[in-house]
Amino acid sequence: MLEEFIHRFADLNVARNQNHWSTLTLNKAPHKAFTLLSVIDLIAIGFISENMMPPATELVENFNDYWKLVMPLNRRSSMAYPFPRLARDDIWTLVPTSSQSLPVNIDSISSMSKLRQVCSGAVFSDDLFKHLCNSADREVLRGVLLENYFSAEIRSLIAEQGIINQKSFTYGQRILNSTQPDSVHEPENEYAEKKIRKQGFRKAIVKLYDHRCALCGIRLLTPEGHTIVEAAHIIPWRESQDDNPTNGMALCRLCHWSFDEGMMGVNPDYSVLVSKRIQIDNNFPGHMSTLIDRQIIKPENPQFFPDPTNLEWHRSNVFS
Ligand SMILES: [Zn+2]
Repeated sequence: MLEEFIHRFADLNVARNQNHWSTLTLNKAPHKAFTLLSVIDLIAIGFISENMMPPATELVENFNDYWKLVMPLNRRSSMAYPFPRLARDDIWTLVPTSSQSLPVNIDSISSMSKLRQVCSGAVFSDDLFKHLCNSADREVLRGVLLENYFSAEIRSLIAEQGIINQKSFTYGQRILNSTQPDSVHEPENEYAEKKIRKQGFRKAIVKLYDHRCALCGIRLLTPEGHTIVEAAHIIPWRESQDDNPTNGMALCRLCHWSFDEGMMGVNPDYSVLVSKRIQIDNNFPGHMSTLIDRQIIKPENPQFFPDPTNLEWHRSNVFS
């Protein structure tokens, strides 16, 4: 039975155009392959354990990470294109959000928010789902995607991204579930280890702060999974090697930069501290001085509040 699915995975109906798609993707559109690889990663870590693939943020994030690996920076895409179209390849069946049937124009949907309005997920055939839950079969199908949609020179990079997607998710979960995350255990590859750690820390921190900047409170999350916040270390990793959530805060890009440059900090009572340098220089964004003495945004669970010792270290060593 696996043979049949190998054939289907190898023969997805994708756009082919050598002016549009480079030889890295064998002149084919990679959207469907990236979507299936992203699903495979989520099944591998047990995030998806039942036969229903929701168009979840975690899936979109994996898709975006694969996309960034191969595509030029300025070329963006959305998983909203391939997700419904995979139904035409007999890969899965779409499930409408309500009792109504799916709209006839579902193939022309171009944003995740629109897709989520009409479609609550996709279901594989029982047979295919069984193969995807079996690790050996799953890796065979991953190999089929790599071989048929990507050139030999980038296959190992994409396979490595799959490992990073899986291990960073697990690393993020471990950070949230224990106070002392273990090391990544990827001694043969320093690059992958760093990426797993960074992505895992980011996933955990961004989730804890629900995509909101701890210092200014801004929250912008697009339906395509792009968020304005980054995961900041209070004591930098190079000093502390500390990925505990209590050594992190979700910060928007401006606040992250200002925090790392010592222009913003946090008082012992968790109020925002703003450097005098900002208050006397008119070139700094005006809203920053309005944050003075305001309480920072903290995670719901006090166990994950920024550690006062770490904040004290930042005030003494970075803030000025
Ligand atoms: Zn901010």
